Amino acid sequence: MITLALSKGRIFDETLPMLAAAGVTITDDAESSRRLILDTSRPDVRVVLVRATDVPTYVQQGGADLGVAGLDVLLEHDAAVGVGGLYRPLDLGIARCRMSVATRADFDYANAVKQGSRIRVATKYVSVARDHFAEKGVHVDLIKLYGSMELAPLTGLADAIVDLVSTGSTLKANQLREVEKIMDISARLVVNQTALKLKREPMRRLIDAFAAATQP
Ligand code: ATP
Ligand code: MG
Repeated sequence: MITLALSKGRIFDETLPMLAAAGVTITDDAESSRRLILDTSRPDVRVVLVRATDVPTYVQQGGADLGVAGLDVLLEHDAAVGVGGLYRPLDLGIARCRMSVATRADFDYANAVKQGSRIRVATKYVSVARDHFAEKGVHVDLIKLYGSMELAPLTGLADAIVDLVSTGSTLKANQLREVEKIMDISARLVVNQTALKLKREPMRRLIDAFAAATQP
């Protein structure tokens, strides 16, 4: 049996067509059923539904053989627990967005950076943010949040946020503006190294099928 960990939402929705190209279709109705383990058209492949941030943990610890996780999630996971045992052979090119710095329109970010001011930055992505500002030589106080980052500059909790942006409409709706792109983000295939050794042939075939379905 090969177990693939996915998270509900855009990762699940955008992985399905790639799986279909690999000849794997999900036979359970993920939306209507409350099941967390889904059968597929291949008796030797099943899908488990986990929180996006839990995908690397499941795969690293062998709760799943492979999974799909955003680079944002992977980088924070690596910083927290290390990269050991987690092989990442493919950029799937799906769930694309970017990690950016955003502020209120009336906050002069460029000037604050130039002046060497301390900037209060709220984010879910503390590790990526820390590395980014350290590399720029900008002094920051990082404030860890778990969601609704847009609220932080509006309430005075922070001067800036580091968050994922795709269209920019959420920022716009909250009168924030993107002042700096940190990196492009897309979803990666992650593979448990031990599972790859023990189930080499079927795992290899599935990974090759993902590779063939990957959008450049
Ligand atoms: P949850 O919503 O359950 O708290 P989550 O926000 O991590 O978890 P999703 O919103 O489904 O889950 O996002 C999953 C992944 O999709 C992210 O980790 C990221 O890599 C990618 N993604 C692409 N565009 C966006 C976006 N605009 N906002 C958030 N994530 C995005
Ligand atoms: Mg979300």
